[in-house]
Amino acid sequence: MSTALVWFRRDLRLIDHPALHHAATRHARVIPVYIHAPHEEAPWQPGAASRWWLHHSLAALDTALRGQGSRLILRQGDSLNTLRQLLHETGAAAVYWNRLYEPAIIARDRALKTALHADGIHAESHQAALLLEPWTVLKSDQTPYQVFTPFWKACLQHLPPPAPLPIPALPAPEHWPDSLPLDALDLLPRIRWDAGLAAAWQVGEAGALAQLDRFCATGLMDYAQGRDWPGRAGVSRLSPHLHFGEISPRQVWTAVAMTCGGDPLSFQGAATFLREIGWREFAHHVLYHWPHTTDQPLQARFAAYPWRTDYAELLQAWQHGQTGYPLIDAGMRQLWHSGWMHNRVRMLVASFLVKNCRIPWQEGARWFWDTLVDADLASNSLGWQWTAGCGTDAAPYFRIFNPLRQAEQFDPDGAFVRQWLPAARSAGGTYPRPVIDFATSRAEALAGFERIKG
Ligand SMILES: Cc1cc2nc3c(=O)[nH]c(=O)nc-3n(C[C@H](O)[C@H](O)[C@H](O)COP(=O)(O)OP(=O)(O)OC[C@H]3O[C@@H](n4cnc5c(N)ncnc54)[C@H](O)[C@@H]3O)c2cc1C
Repeated sequence: MSTALVWFRRDLRLIDHPALHHAATRHARVIPVYIHAPHEEAPWQPGAASRWWLHHSLAALDTALRGQGSRLILRQGDSLNTLRQLLHETGAAAVYWNRLYEPAIIARDRALKTALHADGIHAESHQAALLLEPWTVLKSDQTPYQVFTPFWKACLQHLPPPAPLPIPALPAPEHWPDSLPLDALDLLPRIRWDAGLAAAWQVGEAGALAQLDRFCATGLMDYAQGRDWPGRAGVSRLSPHLHFGEISPRQVWTAVAMTCGGDPLSFQGAATFLREIGWREFAHHVLYHWPHTTDQPLQARFAAYPWRTDYAELLQAWQHGQTGYPLIDAGMRQLWHSGWMHNRVRMLVASFLVKNCRIPWQEGARWFWDTLVDADLASNSLGWQWTAGCGTDAAPYFRIFNPLRQAEQFDPDGAFVRQWLPAARSAGGTYPRPVIDFATSRAEALAGFERIKG
């Protein structure tokens, strides 16, 4: 029995952590490690809101580990070199981690595993972030799905998932290796714009579990209707917790099933909610099979779309919630203040940027990447391509949401706009006039789509 390193990445939890579980059951000593190496994720290293979340999530993980008689060792630098250094310092002979599916991380991990094996180190990775591995859900001709409904039907053949793993006993080494202080990772903003984030979230595994419990008790059964109203608490707000792996999709499935007391798929609210967890799966599977979709449209003809070229001012108005369309601006301010935006409003602001402003979807994706606490390369790329009409199972290009009608339908009492944009309603305020005429911009967008249709 020897010492093992458990390399934490975006699996910042103790429950249902296969790497931790296997290391702890097979080795006499376990050393949990986090290596800060954002350059290895370039060009998609975490944005400002994600870094804020990461800081607090690492702090929470260290606290949770200390509660189990262990601790989190923090380092920064190249992952391979840092692991080699730690293996050398601790005499460990094995490294365990859970897999991630972003293209840069897959390439890094493959090379790293080969190098560790060549060093004679036992290097072992596990499935933890998804319900099913992307290479296991394929059509009968062995190609990946591009349409969600048959994809999810195929997934359901392999589900429910196995029960989540419990927290293992964590045998500590006699001497702990040195750890950097968390502040040395420099994750928090220098200008403290993060008060709204701190007020909105309980970061960490305990917060994730509390949020899941709350949602199962109050929102799950009405989710099919409740999820469409941005002014009400009808959705789970689990996305940042899932992104950072503070909770696993297996745990979510299991909690939903327990709440239903039977097959969750036979309850409308639960089935609709699990289908959304299915969209998360789909996004990761799509990214795995088409890694270029972070920057390029899946449907190649969309690369020739006649985007506006002089859009700096318009983009800034959109980013700052100054478009003159209250629902759009309320959403963009919700994003800026809380690091999160309701899904319906994400679809609206994205449609507005891409279709009415004719600004490339990649600009919107980049802004979301920096400002969302749940910024996730798979879900963000899929969401933007879906809205632009150029991705898998995309919204038809001619569907252009009218923000005024959408407000009447989904925020009829104005609760959402009032919460995030109180000034929009007060007469004589400084609220801007619409930056773009909806009818004209819609016609221009449709003309642009006609040009690339063939
Ligand atoms: C333009 C655009 C960009 C987006 N960017 C992201 C992103 O960077 N990160 C992200 O997690 N989600 C993204 N989404 C998907 C979705 O908006 C969020 O997952 C959801 O709003 C998160 O809130 P929630 O946890 O309350 O969701 P709930 O409605 O409670 O859903 C539960 C979970 O299912 C998953 N989910 C729900 N809808 C989707 C979806 N359409 N695609 C993928 N997963 C989904 C999420 O993990 C979510 O936490 C984006 C959507 C759009 C239209």
